[in-house]
Amino acid sequence: MTSTSLRDPHVSQADSLRVSVLSEALPYIQRFVGRRVVVKYGGAAMAQEDLREAVFRDLALLASVGVQLVIVHGGGPEINQWLMRLQIEPNFRDGLRVTDAATMDVVEMVLVGRVNKQIVNGLHRVRDRRTLGVRGLAVGLCGSDGGLIKARSLGDGSHGLVGEVASVDPGVLEPLLAAGYMPVISSVAPDGEGRAHNINADTVAGELAAAMQAEKLVLLTDTAGILRDRHDPSSLIRQLSLNQARQLIAEGIVDGGMTPKTECCIRALAQGVGAAHIIDGRVPHSLLLELFTNAGTGTMVIGATSQLQTA
Ligand code: ADP
Ligand code: MG
Repeated sequence: MTSTSLRDPHVSQADSLRVSVLSEALPYIQRFVGRRVVVKYGGAAMAQEDLREAVFRDLALLASVGVQLVIVHGGGPEINQWLMRLQIEPNFRDGLRVTDAATMDVVEMVLVGRVNKQIVNGLHRVRDRRTLGVRGLAVGLCGSDGGLIKARSLGDGSHGLVGEVASVDPGVLEPLLAAGYMPVISSVAPDGEGRAHNINADTVAGELAAAMQAEKLVLLTDTAGILRDRHDPSSLIRQLSLNQARQLIAEGIVDGGMTPKTECCIRALAQGVGAAHIIDGRVPHSLLLELFTNAGTGTMVIGATSQLQTA
């Protein structure tokens, strides 16, 4: 007798599939209840309306089952659009944008004022109103709020108000997470004199994950993950140790925007985060697939003490 012949004729195939998927996902879901997951949201998942909606739904679902989520976001295409609209001339040095005071004003207004609130509102739009209490209600913050992040100028300061993380104090996040709120953090933070700096959002996510001893750090991007050949999506590296990740940077296989991602995974893992994932924001539900299935979709970097079955 085949299993289909055992199927109740009143239950549709779609419904029975849905229930079997749910029961398979349940052990994973239970494993994450009350755990902390830091998600860097950016790239294609942020630029495209349909993908934006899909990511918000995944985040809302994770929050509704009790995962403690912290979202960190970058600027997407909006910063450049506003710089052009305000006719602020781009200034490049060694191929990198120099963030002067006028540019930083726009970065801060767009990131903290507009993009942050679009994400908060987007999360609320998809939130199931039957969700208990405040679960999944988002609270927008930047590095200034509650003294969360202190910045210092990157390198020799020749790129202007581009910063790196000098210190993190996640104290302000604790009561929010304990109550069930979802902090949404834009990657702008003040230096010692209160001057706003723009920091790479991957870096902020990694430092926050480390400071909060998160279970996982997840970076959404525009590629399948770390590729051995960045032009060949089939060369995806599914799993990496810390040392293998370091080697990929040293060999130049990881380059460009993938470098801060890989570096922040390494730093987070070295400081006790369970696992770090670089996943494809263009794939609908890549976040759920990565957290709730064994195979996952992207690249998982694991620390020396991580266990594979906790993936
Ligand atoms: P995001 O907007 O998500 O931060 P970035 O453009 O900063 O994305 O970083 C991702 C980019 O890194 C990829 O689109 C790719 O061009 C580049 N890259 C460099 N090396 C690799 C690699 N080994 N695997 C995948 N992508 C790589
Ligand atoms: Mg980047």
